[in-house]
Amino acid sequence: MHHRQSRRGAVLRWTALLLVATVFTGGTVHATQPVVWPANPSTLCDAVDDLVFNGTRANESVQWQVSLGPRLPGSDASEAFRAHLTSVLEPMGYEVTETVHHRHGMNLTNFEARWPSTTVNAPQLVLSAHYDSRNIADHDTNASNRTLPVPGANDGASGAAVLFELAHVIPQLTFEYDIVLFWNDAEDQNDNFTVGAEAWAENLTSEDIDRTEAFILLDMVGDADLQLRNINPGNDTLKSRVVELGGALGLVADRQACDGELGEDIVQYEVEVGVLDDHYHAHVRNIPSLDLMDPQYGEAKAMTFGSYWHTMEDTPDKVSATSLEHVGRLVELGLRTDAFVSVAENPSPTDERATAPEHDGEVDGDRSAEEHDDTSGIALLAGVALGAVCALLAVVEWKGKP
Ligand SMILES: [Zn+2]
Repeated sequence: MHHRQSRRGAVLRWTALLLVATVFTGGTVHATQPVVWPANPSTLCDAVDDLVFNGTRANESVQWQVSLGPRLPGSDASEAFRAHLTSVLEPMGYEVTETVHHRHGMNLTNFEARWPSTTVNAPQLVLSAHYDSRNIADHDTNASNRTLPVPGANDGASGAAVLFELAHVIPQLTFEYDIVLFWNDAEDQNDNFTVGAEAWAENLTSEDIDRTEAFILLDMVGDADLQLRNINPGNDTLKSRVVELGGALGLVADRQACDGELGEDIVQYEVEVGVLDDHYHAHVRNIPSLDLMDPQYGEAKAMTFGSYWHTMEDTPDKVSATSLEHVGRLVELGLRTDAFVSVAENPSPTDERATAPEHDGEVDGDRSAEEHDDTSGIALLAGVALGAVCALLAVVEWKGKP
């Protein structure tokens, strides 16, 4: 019995080792096995009836932000935006933090508002958007406009406004994880992109990374003609849940929504686009990440994000309360149904798609994406090899010495 037991004991030891090796090849502790979501199919439609996100109020925030003038890093307008956030959110109970970084000759300020959960040492979910507006309209068809600062109604104010409106919704809900609303700075200055989000990610400890369930970015989400497309890189589980959330809300073409009507063609995840946006820095640190973005603003125009993008045409009249409400309700529904937590990591590196962007490689520079692909592949290989060795040892142990 003992022998068998000892054999059984030995096999159990090696199998446990195998499991450990497989799970930790990537070095993070995020969910590795798909989790059934939503837990109960009717959950989504029940929650749709409770949604309170207000698109009109979000649109007022867009107009107010643009009225501040160019929100350049270090500017008075940028400071006025942050001061307003603090004056509204701190009294509501948010823990507000401002972090200054000096990069590329800029003094940029990242702004975080944490809504603590009822659980101690809870995991956290990060919702993010850049709040700066671009300093030069370098894609304007009128050459004399190309040194002027962009108004930034859609590219800058829209995502920041949706986060601000969500900040009013979150206290009405309860979570077993903290929610961090992260307004990042210096996403869009000269040829330096995503600088604030990069600085934020570089300062994350491994504990911070492990406790971050997901990083959800909102960028250019206010276009009156809204098409949310499948942005790479990104987490496959989060993407599939966005399609389910969109379907329930009537935002997926030809799919019956909770109200029984067929959906509009707004969530178009059959169309993939490569964008190295703020979420990239969380993604390469194995935090499940997603970029909710409409990469066509105005008419389609080669090598750009549309005819209004990075021009003096990026004004509040191009943004609609309806589009802001679509995106806000989608994120609110995700929060109410825990769609952004317990997210399995991508099974295999999917970033190749990011290195062949349709039209943004030139825009945001694609060198860094390739670098990160290689390492995760090697880690996976090492895990499998280790597993194989363990299995072999287990067999030898079982069969006894040859
Ligand atoms: Zn931009």
